[in-house]
Amino acid sequence: MVWQNRRADAGDFPSRTFRRGLVLEKRTLYSGGPRGEPQGFQPPPLQADGTPGYTLARYIPDVENGNTRGFYVLVSDVTELKSTQIALEQRIQELDILAATDALTGIANRRKFLERTRDELARCKRYGTSLTFLMMDVDHFKAVNDTYGHDAGDQLLKILAMTMKDTLRATDTVGRLGGEEFGALLIEDSPMDVEVVARRLHEALRSACVLTERGQEICFTVSIGLADFAVGVNSAEDLMRRADTALYHAKRTGRNRICWYGECSTEPNRSDS
Ligand code: GH3
Ligand code: MG
Ligand code: MG
Repeated sequence: MVWQNRRADAGDFPSRTFRRGLVLEKRTLYSGGPRGEPQGFQPPPLQADGTPGYTLARYIPDVENGNTRGFYVLVSDVTELKSTQIALEQRIQELDILAATDALTGIANRRKFLERTRDELARCKRYGTSLTFLMMDVDHFKAVNDTYGHDAGDQLLKILAMTMKDTLRATDTVGRLGGEEFGALLIEDSPMDVEVVARRLHEALRSACVLTERGQEICFTVSIGLADFAVGVNSAEDLMRRADTALYHAKRTGRNRICWYGECSTEPNRSDS
């Protein structure tokens, strides 16, 4: 209801926005448009200090004997309300990102990763593309914490996540499933390509040593389980369970190696941990 013309050219009343409102009203009248309901305008006019201002107009027809003679336009400055709404929407967006991110490593957390797995699985089913779930766990990680301290362990996890991101393609989702367990979704690769990628990652992590504050070097190995989207996989959880089984075999057969679901080489990758 209150119209405050805060534009720098305050003499310009009705302002351009106001006039745009009238034009808009004409258009909406043709299509049986607003009769008293509020109408917001975009883009917002600039205020004298350069920040956006927002107005809300309400149209009230002036009717006599059933004929519309014209209309009254009530314009309100809703800048404060709109700014609060925008700030709130931005905050919600930030919170959405936070809720999907692992605080330590900055990559997707378990919830987000599983959500992506569900999406990718649906895409596979629809388009017949391929998908591999890679599950990875640091070997003897507890010993790292026990020997070098929890902070050094955290540092190792950060470096691991960074190396994963650097080694895999931007289209391959990576996530922290919990503790020292990580996942990656490799899309549209043949099993041979997946094998190459998994070995490259395994090697990259073997060389990604951590330097502690005391100058001690911590090198580590990982075990990897791989499972393809195949017959019998009906959900993201099915696929993850298969990758977990493959990882379990990699651990049980000596660690520091890569195993496919249902097929596990007994050969360790280079030196065993
Ligand atoms: P394995 O080769 O069988 O995987 O042995 P492991 O020692 O890696 O596995 P275990 O499950 O015995 O130990 C996992 C350790 O990971 C125990 C836990 O304290 C540690 N851990 C879990 N989350 C974090 C974390 O965020 N930071 C650090 N520093 N340690 C963590
Ligand atoms: Mg472990
Ligand atoms: Mg573990």
